[in-house]
This record gives sequence, structure tokens and C-alpha cells, in this order.
Amino acid sequence: YKTLRLILGDQLNAHHSWFRRSDPEVLYVIIELSQELTVVQHHVQKVEAFFLAMQLFADALGKAGHQVRHLTLDDTQGDDSLDDCLSKLIRDHQVQRFEYQQPDEYRLEQQLRLFCEQQSIAHECVDSEHFFLNREALATLFNAGTSHRMEAFYRNMRRQFNVLMEGENPVGGQWNYDAENRKKLKAADLVDLPEPLVFANDVSEVRKRLARHHVRTIGESMPHCLWPVTRTQAKSLLSFFCAHCLPYFGRFQDAMTADAEESKRWSLYHSRLSFALNTKMLHPAQVIREAVNCYEQSDGQISLAQIEGFVRQILGWREFVRGMYWANMPQYGQLNALQAERDLPQQYWTGQTRMRCMSLAIGQSLSFAYAHHIQRLMVTGNFALLAGINPDQVDQWYLGIYVDAIEWVEMPNTRGMSQFADGGLVGSKAYAASGQYIQRMSDYCGGCYYRVREKTGPRACPLNPMYWHFMHRHQDAFQQNPRQALVYKNWRRFSKDEQQAILREGERCLSDIESL
Ligand code: FAD
Repeated sequence: YKTLRLILGDQLNAHHSWFRRSDPEVLYVIIELSQELTVVQHHVQKVEAFFLAMQLFADALGKAGHQVRHLTLDDTQGDDSLDDCLSKLIRDHQVQRFEYQQPDEYRLEQQLRLFCEQQSIAHECVDSEHFFLNREALATLFNAGTSHRMEAFYRNMRRQFNVLMEGENPVGGQWNYDAENRKKLKAADLVDLPEPLVFANDVSEVRKRLARHHVRTIGESMPHCLWPVTRTQAKSLLSFFCAHCLPYFGRFQDAMTADAEESKRWSLYHSRLSFALNTKMLHPAQVIREAVNCYEQSDGQISLAQIEGFVRQILGWREFVRGMYWANMPQYGQLNALQAERDLPQQYWTGQTRMRCMSLAIGQSLSFAYAHHIQRLMVTGNFALLAGINPDQVDQWYLGIYVDAIEWVEMPNTRGMSQFADGGLVGSKAYAASGQYIQRMSDYCGGCYYRVREKTGPRACPLNPMYWHFMHRHQDAFQQNPRQALVYKNWRRFSKDEQQAILREGERCLSDIESL
């Protein structure tokens, strides 16, 4: 072969220009790498979904007439690094040229850049042709160490890519429909809630391989892989979402309910497209195009607030966090603005806690390798923020447990938006909340051991005193922020004795964190 082309596990983009024509002189390689399995411990369903999708992608390329080597853990003897594998292939096949697509992760980009520098053959790094904005465009929009606001970025993206626009103006005259969204799910709403479309992919061979190589994972196994592992499956998940979930997507975007989990409707009206998107099986433009078409043809059945809420996540947030990641790496991974140093409590690995919100959100994550945004941000994320957990450990947990977790999107969401460890580069304020928020957005509090209305005492919801303890200990950092002014005004309404009692209770929760 003249050319070796590397396909990473999250580069399963069948529409990449590489594959437009087959060339017998080009060898493609896709590799199961143990180095990726030890960065953190991943959820078993995540590893299975990735490995199966990689294998099926390699098969499909082969069927389309390309030369492909799919190296499994057996072929790499379980412990060859990416460099070892590539060097061996270059040597064995007397390859004259090496090409790879721009990795989305800083660590892999460095590794491949260094590898190329050490090679005597020609090499080239090409665009992955997945995102709306390529890396050059991102570099012109995002500056290191500078806070950027998603809203302004998103409006420009709508204009630039002409999504939901009427000339220069947003369709409907408004950019943002947040006020109409974010409703709590009531019992009556649950009747229409669809059961998620899941797949029954046979993952037995992958599973045997993981066992043979003693791969350590977290989370529960399912009999089959539930996630879409081919482009065809990913497209049917997209169609399912448009038909059944999009009509209520925005309205119930932030809602959480214990009922849904018990009745197997655990993903509510969310799309669960993040795995298909992040592995690049689906292009974000395709997802947006299909959803917008569906909205336009729905004869008013799907309101503007629903589609706008969905477009915002993909055209806005997803591209935005990527911009923040690349502008700030590698320093971003070290930031700890609130000097949070506590260890992550055991309940994150077991789901065992008397706090019902945490137990349900963690339990669902361990069962399905999935939780929706508000469970991640306002339940598990909020607790870690209030408790002052070391952001390295928080990052590791999020990077391991979710099927869609890849560092470029996980880290700005976790370290930035959720933990405020970047001091406000991604979010304009810390997303800290007391039990009241959980009660407003969910039915979790009803059956909880703790009492959400109490701030002190043995049955007080720990989030209440922990919230005030958090706001109090970071007063210097936060009280200048106009978005937090009301919080401190409320704090001053408590008497000195009340304040002392709440802070003491917060202290007790923190020192007793393993037994909450
Ligand atoms: P939906 O609610 O259906 O949203 C549609 C799509 O919008 C998602 O598939 C996703 O591609 C995109 N999206 C929505 N919110 C965000 C966001 N904040 N940032 C980037 N894209 C977004 N998302 C990941 O893809 N990988 C991660 O590792 C990840 N880690 C997170 C960690 C924390 C602490 C938080 C608060 C959020 C994280 N998110 C992550 C963002 C978001 O929670 C997930 O994208 C979403 O829950 C995936 O489920 P879904 O496909 O059903 O999303």
C-alpha cells in the first residue's frame, strides 16, 4: 500500500471525502486500543457500543470496496499503543504516506503529531468534516482564558448557517423560547411518554474479547447493545425522535421523573442522539435538517419553541463547548477556580444514598450509561459542586460513565458549566441549587428520606444547608455577579442564629458526606 489512513473510534463518518472512491493503494486501519480503555474506567455499555460500531464501520467500508484492517484487542495483544500499531503497519506494508483525521481530543492530537514528527514518510492531517465550524474558524472566534457567551455565538450560527431564519431575523421574531420551555412533567403527561427506541445488537463477541483481555469497566451490562451502532440505526433513532419526542422536546427538556425510570421510559423526550453524533455516524447538519423539516411539515403540531430548543443544543451548545475546549486546552484540564479538593463520594459508583434524586440519577447512569442534561447538571453535577469535589475526579466520573462522553464535550460541560472550575469561562454563573430546584423540576422529592422544605435537622434535605454553605464560602467570588445578587439578599434575610444553624448543618453534611 502507498498510503495508510487511520480512523479513530469516534470518526465513523461514512460521508467523509476519503471514502468517495476506493483506491487499492490505500489501506484504512481502525484499532481497538487498550490505551483508550485505561484513560479512565468506562461504562461497559460504552466500550461495547464503541467497539461494535467500529467493527461494523470497518465491515461496511470493506463491503464498499475499500481495503480495511480492523485490529481487535486480540490482534494488538491487548497492550500495544497506537504508535506501536501504526509503526508496525507502516513497516509491514512498506507504506509511503500516513494520513489521519484531526482528532477531537487534545491528548490524541498531541500523540499523533509527535508520532508524525518521528516518521520519515510523508504525512497529512485532514479535517474530520463533521462539525459546522472547522478548527480554523473556531480559532478566530474563541480566545484562551476569555469568557464567551453561548447566546451570542448561537445567534451568529443561526445567521451563518441559515437555520430557522427569515432573512436577517429569527423565524417567529424571537431567538429564545426558554420561558415557554422547562415545564415539570405531571402524572397526566406521562401517559403520552414514548418508550425509547432501543436496539438489540448482538455484542457477545465484543464482550468475550473484553473478558479475555481483563478490561475493567463500570456500570451494568444489558443483554444487548441498546445504542445505534450503524448509520442506518442512527437514522432510525433520528426519525423516531422527530416523530415521537420533538413535539414535547423543549417543554419537558429540564423535567425529571422517577416514574419514567420505573416504566422504562428513562430518556423522556430526549433524543439520545449524542452517541451517534459524537462517533460521527450522524452529521449535526443532517440532524438539524431532518428535525427542522419535520417541524415545517407538522402543521403546527410541533411548535417553534420545541424545534428552537433542539436546534440550540446542537447548533449552539455543541459547537460552542468545542470552541471553548480547543481555545483553552491543555490548561483547561488543570483549572480549579473554586479550589475544590474533596474526594468523590462512593455513592457515585454505587447509587447508594438516601438522597432520592442522587440515587435515581446515578442508578439510571449505571443502568443505561445515560442521563439527560439536567440530571447531569442539576443532580450529580450540583451535588459535586456544592460538596466541593475535586474537578479531576468529577471529570473522570463523567468521562467514564456516559456512552457519549468524549473529552472535548465532556470537559467544558463538567469542569466549566457544572463545576465552575474555569471561573466562568463557559457559564456566567455557578449552577448551584438547593433542594427547591429539584422539587420544582421533578417528582424525586416525594418519596425521599429527606425533607426538601427543611434546612436543618437530621431529615433536612442535605442540598439545602450545602447550598447555603457553598454560597457563603464563595461569597467573595460570587457576590459581585449581578446574577447572584438576589441569593445574597435572601441570605441576609435569615437571622444571625439561623445563618449559624444552616452553616453548621452544611458543615455536618460535608464532614459526613459518605453517609448521606
Ligand atoms: P438531547 O437532550 O436530545 O439534546 C440533543 C443533542 O444536543 C445532544 O445529543 C447533544 O449532541 C447536544 N447537546 C445538548 N446539550 C449539550 C451540551 N451542553 N453540550 C454539548 N452538546 C449538547 N454531552 C456529550 O455529548 N458528551 C458528554 O460527555 C457530556 N458530558 C456532560 C457532562 C455534564 C456535567 C453536563 C451537564 C452535560 C454533558 N453533556 C455531554 C451535554 C448533554 O448533557 C448531553 O449531550 C445530552 O444529555 C445527551 O443526551 P441526548 O442525546 O438525549 O440529548
